[in-house]
Amino acid sequence: MTADIIPHTSINAHQPCWQEELAAAIRDPASLLKLLEIKPSHLDGINAAQQAWTIRVPLPYVRRMGKGDIDDPLLKQVLPLGSEMLSVPGFSSDPLGEGDANPIPGVVHKYHGRALLIISPACAVHCRYCFRRHFPYEDNTLGKKQWQAALDYLANDESISEVIYSGGDPLAANNNFLLWMTEKIAAIPHIKRLRIHTRLPLVIPSRIDSGCLHWLTATRLKVVMVWHINHPNEIDNSVKQAALNLKRHGIELLNQSVLLKQVNDTTQTLATLSEQLFEAGILPYYIHRLDKVAGAAHFHVSDEKIQQLQEELLELLPGYLVPRFVCEQAAAGAKLALTFPNKGQLLNPI
Ligand code: SF4
Repeated sequence: MTADIIPHTSINAHQPCWQEELAAAIRDPASLLKLLEIKPSHLDGINAAQQAWTIRVPLPYVRRMGKGDIDDPLLKQVLPLGSEMLSVPGFSSDPLGEGDANPIPGVVHKYHGRALLIISPACAVHCRYCFRRHFPYEDNTLGKKQWQAALDYLANDESISEVIYSGGDPLAANNNFLLWMTEKIAAIPHIKRLRIHTRLPLVIPSRIDSGCLHWLTATRLKVVMVWHINHPNEIDNSVKQAALNLKRHGIELLNQSVLLKQVNDTTQTLATLSEQLFEAGILPYYIHRLDKVAGAAHFHVSDEKIQQLQEELLELLPGYLVPRFVCEQAAAGAKLALTFPNKGQLLNPI
């Protein structure tokens, strides 16, 4: 159960636009804990982790957290912890080898037919488990002129039929830039689809404004938006409204989650998440095994547990509500499906 800790604005009050919500995001752990009425008993460890990678969490997301609950599943995703500073074998700064798939600044090209653009280095929320928490964004932050080289790269490779807007969070870029970029990409004849990976409409639902709907619908490209929602408590009415607005404008909505210890690693939580996603018009698509990024080892869920969750979800839900359990590996040519025949692990390309 969640409790509102910050009053919603009244009907006549100024409704902040998404940029104002972004500017007002919480940027220090002490303020967040104070808002949630939680004693900062472990602030030393928190401060060390905060210095390594700052906290950022918008107020609309904070409002969905429970007051006084240090174990709140949304709080756990954003609160820096001292354990992030531990060096754990197997956890590295670039678990997916993206440094080897970064042919020119702004482009990650790992898989056949798809290329990913680092549209914005910024995010509205800093998720402590993020596999790009050590990504060299400073080398991939481009001006419009430099973007031309990235566009030339896409135009010169006719095998690319899908462009993925990523980041950071691509929706942290403004609508004018996104309109410009989308028009440039639509002018490349062999590109058919645009996929947008984002968490911004979840943490700031007002991001789906009229300007956003304009560039999303003005293009000839088929647009798919992939949300990153990990827990049912993340979905409130404002999130549902944003999703339904996108659906009404013909945008395909999928969701991918990351399996996170003590956040969403129970069958009931995942089943409820699938039900709520579907109610909001979002198809539960992938659930990812955690990428082993340095600083996130405390979120790791064992393969035995993943197998149990997968089996129980298949019993509990209709097939279309069971997301595909997947993982990524640095040198693999595709995502890998996690299947467990005879209690042994098998990775199948999908
Ligand atoms: S890229 Fe996505 S997962 Fe990573 S911090 Fe930004 S919003 Fe969170």
